[in-house]
Amino acid sequence: MTTDIAARLIRPATAEYDKARMVWNAMIDRYPAAILRCASVQDIQAGLAYARSQGLAVSIKGGGHNVAGHAVGEGALMLDLGGMRGVTVDPTRRIAWVEGGAIWADVDSATQVHGLAVPGGLISETGVGGLTLSGGVGWLRSRHGLTIDNLLAADVVTADGEVIRTDASHHPDLLWALKGGGGNFGVVARFCFQLHLVGPEVMFCAPIYPASAGIGPIKVWRDFISQHSDDLGSLVEFSTIPESPDYDSAYWGQRCYTIAAVFAGDAAEGERLVEPLRNLGPKAADFSGIMPYATVQTLFDALMPTGAYRCYWKSHLLAKLTDEMIAEALQNAVDNPSDRSISSIWSFGGATARVPAEATAFGSRDFGWMYSLDSVWEKPEDDQKVRGFTRAAWDRFRRHALDGRLYLNFAGQDEDSAELTRTALGRNFARLAKIKVSYDPGNMFCFNQNIPPAA
Ligand SMILES: Cc1cc2nc3c(=O)[nH]c(=O)nc-3n(C[C@H](O)[C@H](O)[C@H](O)COP(=O)(O)OP(=O)(O)OC[C@H]3O[C@@H](n4cnc5c(N)ncnc54)[C@H](O)[C@@H]3O)c2cc1C
Repeated sequence: MTTDIAARLIRPATAEYDKARMVWNAMIDRYPAAILRCASVQDIQAGLAYARSQGLAVSIKGGGHNVAGHAVGEGALMLDLGGMRGVTVDPTRRIAWVEGGAIWADVDSATQVHGLAVPGGLISETGVGGLTLSGGVGWLRSRHGLTIDNLLAADVVTADGEVIRTDASHHPDLLWALKGGGGNFGVVARFCFQLHLVGPEVMFCAPIYPASAGIGPIKVWRDFISQHSDDLGSLVEFSTIPESPDYDSAYWGQRCYTIAAVFAGDAAEGERLVEPLRNLGPKAADFSGIMPYATVQTLFDALMPTGAYRCYWKSHLLAKLTDEMIAEALQNAVDNPSDRSISSIWSFGGATARVPAEATAFGSRDFGWMYSLDSVWEKPEDDQKVRGFTRAAWDRFRRHALDGRLYLNFAGQDEDSAELTRTALGRNFARLAKIKVSYDPGNMFCFNQNIPPAA
């Protein structure tokens, strides 16, 4: 079997290699020893056998969206799960089995046929694999929690090639570890998710205020959303108004923020509920409306094409959101040297907050907010300027962060990754390191937010 796989490997200096090693962030330029496109569990097993025989570490590519580029390991065998995107829905039991290389578009289209959904992310091309394994925050988090809170079971191929079904009664330590511990424990061939009734139509709220409106509307949003944390998945997203007829031309090129929210219950009720957020001053545009949930899930896709831009993202988890923090976030958005950059204040609470700290490897849900700096730019010559700005803004904001914690799916790149992972996982880090010994004692899966096996 290893010989067959060797013939299928995409190696350096072949026509396909450069395209196959590309991921979403155009800054990532790494050279794996070889790439294997997997279409089945058997392919994963054969790839791992080959890696063991050659002494290679393994990197796993799900959707390729990880901003730090963990899917591509320098000198590693890269397992590309892009051939494993199947989704099987059981509408009666309200569960879905999702293959490890699926993207959220695959899941949303298969589940929405039945009026069902699992909380995913905001962009339809993001991979289910990476997003789930480090938490997963999306529009449905207020009602149904993080993606991991809906993970019921998984089929995992471990470093020695064994396929393990983990659920609440079988290898529960592994299921717990998958809920926040990243791709450290094996290749997840299939995830099983709990589904919920959603839509098909939902209320999407998206008035866009110019930055010149100041922090007033955001303060109103903060107080409003705190009262509705069970109902609305919401964030304030700072960006730049494009020169497009969809926007009032008086505001073209100005920095702005969108007060975005999704009400995933009765759409008409949602429309009434979000009304106060839509009348907080002069607007550059208002994209609010009742629309299919599947459409909402693709609304931001055009901003984030694969391989087009260079990116550096970082985040902080916050206990509370003060006026001072809002003002600082607005100023950072105004000062960001790139018009393509985005930054956001995410609200939490609701179902996300009700999950006990010990229930998942992700850990405590004591954060009410998250601040994320998602810098995006085009030219390599701007790397230092935009990255430097983002890092400095993040460093300054760190004094507000809850125990110095950040969200591992927005963690930056090429910097103190071990320390960030340790801080983010807190008390769970040591338990995860022990679990790692059972499933990947040699740290074959080290291209991730790495948790080395306990000594
Ligand atoms: C445009 C964009 C939008 C985003 N929006 C959101 C959002 O709304 N909410 C949110 O929570 N996050 C969001 N993210 C962050 C995203 O969750 C992470 O970047 C995540 O790592 C992406 O998963 P992936 O499978 O696409 O990544 P990849 O780069 O393919 O994988 C990242 C790592 O995940 C692990 N992994 C992936 N699949 C598997 C698998 N099947 N088995 C084992 N390990 C695996 C591996 O360690 C791999 O190195 C966004 C990212 C981008 C670029």
